[in-house]
Amino acid sequence: DYGPAPESASEALQWLGDRGGIAGHYIGGKWGPLRDDFPSNNPATGEKLAGVTKGTAEEIETAVAAARKAQPAWAKSGHKRARILYAIARLMQKHARLLAVMETLDNGKPIRESRDIDVPLAIRHFYHHAGFAQLMRTELPDREPLGVCGQIIPWNFPLLMLAWKIAPALAMGNTVVLKPAEYTSLTAMIFAEICTEAGVPPGVVNIVTGDGETGAALVNAKVDKIAFTGSTEVGRKIREATAGSGKALSLELGGKSPYIVFDDADMDSAVEGLVDAIWFNQGQVCCAGSRLLVQEGIADRFYAKLKSRMDRLRIGDPLDKCIDVGAIVHPVQLDQITKMVNANAEGETYQTKAPEGCFYPPTLITGLAPASTLMQEEIFGPVLAATTFRTPAEAVEIANNTRYGLAASVWSENINLALDVAPKLAAGIVWVNGTNMMDAAAGFGGVRESGFGREGGWEGLAGYTKPKGTPKPIRKIDA
Ligand code: NAD
Repeated sequence: DYGPAPESASEALQWLGDRGGIAGHYIGGKWGPLRDDFPSNNPATGEKLAGVTKGTAEEIETAVAAARKAQPAWAKSGHKRARILYAIARLMQKHARLLAVMETLDNGKPIRESRDIDVPLAIRHFYHHAGFAQLMRTELPDREPLGVCGQIIPWNFPLLMLAWKIAPALAMGNTVVLKPAEYTSLTAMIFAEICTEAGVPPGVVNIVTGDGETGAALVNAKVDKIAFTGSTEVGRKIREATAGSGKALSLELGGKSPYIVFDDADMDSAVEGLVDAIWFNQGQVCCAGSRLLVQEGIADRFYAKLKSRMDRLRIGDPLDKCIDVGAIVHPVQLDQITKMVNANAEGETYQTKAPEGCFYPPTLITGLAPASTLMQEEIFGPVLAATTFRTPAEAVEIANNTRYGLAASVWSENINLALDVAPKLAAGIVWVNGTNMMDAAAGFGGVRESGFGREGGWEGLAGYTKPKGTPKPIRKIDA
């Protein structure tokens, strides 16, 4: 029994208090070990929310063994999987307020976003994949589950990334060991309780909290797949560590996505789109439209409109329903954003104001050279780097001048121009006159150093299966 839905932080805090104020492992359907190894803080206030257990290699092994034991029975009945996945989705709806408030407390994102975006999209992911669980036998007759999947997620969308990982894996008959990010483990705890309540058999979902070392132990464990979302740097390490192991691998990594505005674009819509592209979730979004490319003739007018819109963004207490921009996830991340912007003082900077503490003001830097650091490197904060272009060909050239390739946005009232440019962009996903549009039924993922593999859609389902009869990878037999 979760009690009444929280109206304020106090009820989510009570929820944590009732559980001893510690986020720890959920293995084989049971809690523990639970240790206060490091804190999870509310970035908006700096207050400690809970202690978090740092998972050891032994604890990872225990979780993998529980997942291995549970997998054959879980793979047997698509109907049973569907029933349980629907139950998870319904229970997430029932506890939506608690999930949203906890996410906002732990991550610093505005409550409007956790309430209207993170939580509903996570729920939608379970509904969508529940349907495919019961269709697996008829729709994917030649495929079978991979087995046990190790899943590692970042802190920017803690519950949503959990859903993107767990829903398709479970639907396709796999069992999982998931490691949340060290800054944001708390909604995963609520999710684990929901699993128990939904009747998920012990061992099908295992959650091991911890940091990068815990993640590395999971990568090295005897799992059949590693699904990773996080930085390109860690993704590269994981690729090296899994090379030759026979483990399947998907990597959803960083980005520096171009946002291209042609001179015939609907300017008001393009400005509003930018609010979503770069100030949503404080810019801590892998597919953030963080590189603005504006056609030269409208640049001055466009920047002026954008600045006046920036002035109207409300920054502050993430639990306040009127807030547009919340707190940065952690002082370490704030420090990285600040250092990166200060060390690369090229171009012309326009910044609004932010409160004291772990907040960074919405920032626009114009007049940057396409090859400059701020146009090339992922800042992962509310900082928009801008430049201009003359022709569509030049726009494509600048847009593709990056090591990343996650997403792109094209803004024009001329659909022929937009549809001509879109396929020329090196990106896993291209939005026309829109941004950040996601759906469980559409594959999401990158090209180049943004990773490989897709989450959502048919490709996402395929990524958690293998052709029937594929031999198991050879593993070292322990003495
Ligand atoms: P990160 O790579 O530092 O951490 C991600 C996760 O990996 C965390 O759970 C962390 O504990 C774990 N980890 C760290 N070192 C590890 C190691 N050596 N082995 C195994 N696991 C390890 O990334 P972050 O700072 O949490 O997240 C921000 C990054 O994630 C950004 O680069 C962003 O673009 C990317 N991201 C990508 C997507 C996408 O879908 N492509 C979505 C969200 C975030």
